[in-house]
Amino acid sequence: MPPGARPRAGRELALAIEAHLKTIAETAAPPFGEEMRGALVAELWRQAGLQVERDSVGNVVAAVPGGRGPRVLVAAHLDTVFGAGTDVRVRRDGDRLCGPGIGDNSASLAVLTTFVEKLGADDVPRPRLTLAATVGEEGEGDLRGARRLVADRGAQHDAFVAVDGHLGTIVAQAVGSRRLRVAFRGPGGHSWGDYPTPSAVHAAGEAIHALQGLTVPSEPRSTLNVGQVWGGTSINAIAQEAGFNLDLRSLDPVVLNDLEQRAREAVEGAGRRIGCQVAVTLIGDRPAARADNARLVSCGLRALEGVERHVAVVASSTDANAALAEGLPAIAFGVYRGGDAHRSTEWVEPGSLIQGYHAFERLLACLADEPVR
Ligand SMILES: [Zn+2]
Repeated sequence: MPPGARPRAGRELALAIEAHLKTIAETAAPPFGEEMRGALVAELWRQAGLQVERDSVGNVVAAVPGGRGPRVLVAAHLDTVFGAGTDVRVRRDGDRLCGPGIGDNSASLAVLTTFVEKLGADDVPRPRLTLAATVGEEGEGDLRGARRLVADRGAQHDAFVAVDGHLGTIVAQAVGSRRLRVAFRGPGGHSWGDYPTPSAVHAAGEAIHALQGLTVPSEPRSTLNVGQVWGGTSINAIAQEAGFNLDLRSLDPVVLNDLEQRAREAVEGAGRRIGCQVAVTLIGDRPAARADNARLVSCGLRALEGVERHVAVVASSTDANAALAEGLPAIAFGVYRGGDAHRSTEWVEPGSLIQGYHAFERLLACLADEPVR
């Protein structure tokens, strides 16, 4: 058992993590509105003795004194998917703590914050660390926090660990995504009097049909989804405006480029056939990438020995994408058990946080002794 696995004042530590979890989760962090939670985390880290900076996009960044071996950038995102005004109070329901964003990613921030507070109090080996709480991980945030962090500091680091996701899950590969807003525009008119004037709704339907007909490779895994549609004003009006949001994903950047190209051609063809103008706007672009992160993954697996029987090494879209895209070895590592992420019924098992905390310590202890690239 590595030194980090030694059980310490377990109950006290568990209560500290849980207290942080509640405070952090109840401080709202809507998309593009992470300021309050950022200020809270910055203050907690300052109180714990770190020199904390806020960078140009709002990330909270702190170099940890000491450590040995590789230089590792550790990041947990501040933002949630829940809009301003969401009731973010935490409720206890039996063995669970419930609330929007309580797991993703308040739980990771709580573990990281407790780790910061214990820094001086133990002798667990760790690499040379920079810690960050990032903005803009979710949805249309488009990883703007992690991208800034990697652009500013990636070159001074050897590895990147995003603290995000469930205990037992290691994200080792970045799913790339392109998000397109597709908007059709036509002359509009009366459904009887102006028929057959081109309809923007019909053009959108034609386009979705054409997209449905595209070949989407299953290897490397790739996906296509029209997740939101809008348009029209009345049942008896020929629609002037209609459109949809399209999400394209792939593990392979070349496949993703090709898929985007074919999707653009499909929607432009639909516009021409129906006689409507089409405007396509790129609203999200997350890189698909892979860097040599085998050492990080092996440390992650070792850290989870005896904690989780079902460990999954998966591909996903996290802050680690931003690092992988720049060739910086990266993984995402989960530190809590829970469910219903991105739903108002989200919950965590508070008892899992202490396990996540120790697994995180073991991950760092392993990284201190490994050449990571
Ligand atoms: Zn997350």
